[in-house]
Amino acid sequence: MMSTIVYGSELSLELRAGMKEQIDALKAAGKRVPCLAVILVGDNPASQVYVRGKEKACASIGMESHTFHMDADVSQEELEEMIQKCNDNPKIDGILIQLPLPKGLDSQKAVLCVDPDKDVDGLHPMNIGRLYTGNPGFVPCTPLGCMELLKKMNCDPAGKMAVVVGRSNLVGAPVARLLQNANATVTICHSKTPDLPHVCAQADILIAAIGRPKMIDHTYIKEGAYVVDVGINRQEDGKLCGDVDFDDVVEHTAAITPVPKGVGPMTICMLLSNTLKSYEAREAGNE
Ligand code: NDP
Repeated sequence: MMSTIVYGSELSLELRAGMKEQIDALKAAGKRVPCLAVILVGDNPASQVYVRGKEKACASIGMESHTFHMDADVSQEELEEMIQKCNDNPKIDGILIQLPLPKGLDSQKAVLCVDPDKDVDGLHPMNIGRLYTGNPGFVPCTPLGCMELLKKMNCDPAGKMAVVVGRSNLVGAPVARLLQNANATVTICHSKTPDLPHVCAQADILIAAIGRPKMIDHTYIKEGAYVVDVGINRQEDGKLCGDVDFDDVVEHTAAITPVPKGVGPMTICMLLSNTLKSYEAREAGNE
């Protein structure tokens, strides 16, 4: 079967170019520029790398970003004051708390302080509620990236059987809900699911968000399925791989995303898109 390999690395560039055009037009019209605030606490090297990646991504489309770097020993109160300042700042459209927070800080309590209308990570319970009731709000970036990749595959979920392997709050659960909102019939699987290959083999759309290198081989795949691989796993040789055994599966799929260059690059792209969306809503409210 001829399979289409859909690269998030390419799609994210396309989407970014569109966003850059929009922001260039705002600048040309003398309007305020959208702005993302990132709150980084402590010196976790991985977090610093992620934050730099987000700053660069903003800069690449002409979006403003401000990183508020706080010492690892800040109190919960000080952190929440910082969040409140960002909530109150009319120039800030999106607020992202870089997780995990250092020990002693309560990330759930911190997320609750973020204004739901600036919660571009989609982690505030208000936005989770909006997603589950089918109301407009912010959706977490990785699940949104999966939906954009399906769109790029020309795969309309309506009327299709979808299987999501993984039920985390960050990926599995919200992507399952998005698929259901898009009129797919959705089965959510996890580590206690019996006969997983059989369940997956019913799927027209298969989303793997597990964290097990190459677990999904061709025995899990329905001929002609659309496969989105969210997993990011480091192999012994240091290379990254997904949850799907790409080489074993690819010829059985209609379309598939690789790892790396698949879902990964879409996540930051959707953060930019959520921030721009927040800007538009805020500006429309001010008119
Ligand atoms: P979690 O560890 O939070 O969730 C993993 C899920 O997979 C759980 O629901 C778990 O089941 C299920 N699972 C684990 N083992 C099995 C198994 N043998 N069979 C069936 N189900 C299983 O991970 P995340 O959701 O945060 O992330 C999943 C993957 O996606 C990771 O590889 C992560 O690195 C990657 N990721 C990629 C992102 C990107 O930008 N591309 C962003 C975020 C994550 P149970 O609930 O029963 O424990």
